[in-house]
Amino acid sequence: MGSCIFCKIVEKIIPSSIVYEDDLTLAFEDVNPHAPVHTIVIPKKHIPTLLDVGEEDRNLIGHMFHVAARIAREKGVAEKGFRIVNNCNHEGGQRVYHFHLHLLGGRPMRSPFG
Ligand code: AMP
Ligand code: ZN
Repeated sequence: MGSCIFCKIVEKIIPSSIVYEDDLTLAFEDVNPHAPVHTIVIPKKHIPTLLDVGEEDRNLIGHMFHVAARIAREKGVAEKGFRIVNNCNHEGGQRVYHFHLHLLGGRPMRSPFG
């Protein structure tokens, strides 16, 4: 946890462009955006991957999706549509091992995945 870049963003040791914050979550702009809207939603608590989410995190995870939907509305992409992504572990494309949701929008999302 000591070297986790997203924990450092939570602690404001590393600056970020914060779009939403409450006691449980933080949302900030992705530094390398892949769409006109690319916001990262994280729990303030350090959870490395989806595999580490426990039953005790049920409310937290639900809240993260609620926050993502709120940001999608605020950024004006809710009606047209958007994509929520979680990358898990190496082959899933995870690079930062602090659980997070990518909120992507503002252009048509490509399908199929991957
Ligand atoms: P993932 O590949 O799912 O682990 O996604 C990590 C995301 O975090 C990538 O899209 C990065 O561009 C983004 N990222 C890494 N460092 C920062 C940072 N300091 N501020 C904002 N976004 C970051
Ligand atoms: Zn962390």
